[in-house]
Amino acid sequence: MTALYVHVPFCENKCGYCSFYSKKPRAGEIDSWLEALELEIISRLSFLKKFPAPELLYIGGGTPSLLSVPQWKKFFDTLKKFFGLTNLIEATVEANPNSLTREHVNFFKANGFTRISLGVQSLEDKELKILGRLHDSEQALKAMELVKNSGLALNCDLIFAVPGQTLRTWASSLKKVIQLADHVSTYQLTLEPDTPLGKKFLNEDLNFQGYKFYRYAQYFLPQKNFLQYEISNFAPAGFECRHNISYWTQEDVIALGPSAVSYLAGVRTKNPGTLEKYFRAAEKNFPVEFLEEKESLPPREKNLELVILSLRTKWGIARELVPVEVLEILDSLPRDLFSEYSERIILSPRGMRLGNAIWSEII
Ligand code: SF4
Repeated sequence: MTALYVHVPFCENKCGYCSFYSKKPRAGEIDSWLEALELEIISRLSFLKKFPAPELLYIGGGTPSLLSVPQWKKFFDTLKKFFGLTNLIEATVEANPNSLTREHVNFFKANGFTRISLGVQSLEDKELKILGRLHDSEQALKAMELVKNSGLALNCDLIFAVPGQTLRTWASSLKKVIQLADHVSTYQLTLEPDTPLGKKFLNEDLNFQGYKFYRYAQYFLPQKNFLQYEISNFAPAGFECRHNISYWTQEDVIALGPSAVSYLAGVRTKNPGTLEKYFRAAEKNFPVEFLEEKESLPPREKNLELVILSLRTKWGIARELVPVEVLEILDSLPRDLFSEYSERIILSPRGMRLGNAIWSEII
């Protein structure tokens, strides 16, 4: 399958932990970005047409719900004009609780979106404040209800190992979220040194603290029918995010917008990393030298990457696809890290908890 990803590089405010590329838009900047996006598509179209029409669409960010509905209309018309979007089997849009409106949801529903992924992060006001989120728990619940009542599938992102978080508050957020969501993504807070939260909590060992929260999610969510299908993702059968699966199976991904990373026919390219660089590239019709990275993975690296990506998922990897030297390493690891170890190698819940340690052994 071909997946189409578009990065919307705008946020109303920078959350204290965020190291993704996004910025507060200046007057007229969203419209300029929409024009640049059209130029990017036009300049790459003859190449992109070599791939089948996208069946998966994911609009991420940033905060896509920061665009007004008229801006959304223009944005979506551009995508439809060049990609057709008549073959979609899944279309997801990310949104934040403080900017998602009923008009947005109506627009998404009327235009073939199937899922909304909400940046809930926590349902405890104290934790939301520490994270620097603009919404409170009441707004988050209202946005969740809005999506649920629309009939669209709802994913909620949640963060664990927030300073001051307890198992009780984590359990409470999980419990409330699954009343309305069809999919939950859980991420451990990462303290990047160049973020305000990273500087403030420099000496905290969140990895150590994160283990118990993650373990609780692995214990609680499957009991409620939210099965773990990837290290960070839980959903009832049939509600898995197909777009994300395309990353873990090395399928083709066309990615557009500043800092977006495409993976096409085994070649990974990274778009200009900031809006300013993206606009400069647009002025010159996106010549190839504006790409920040262009990397054709050698077969061994590609294979190693496939092993790690596949092991992240509940489907694991067929033994015959694993290089001999990696098999030797996996053979030397404790058996309880695996739930199956014959034809396919699949991590157990404990193996998923210790994923990072396993990857460093392999690499
Ligand atoms: S809303 Fe998301 S992308 Fe925007 S600053 Fe916060 S974490 Fe980063």
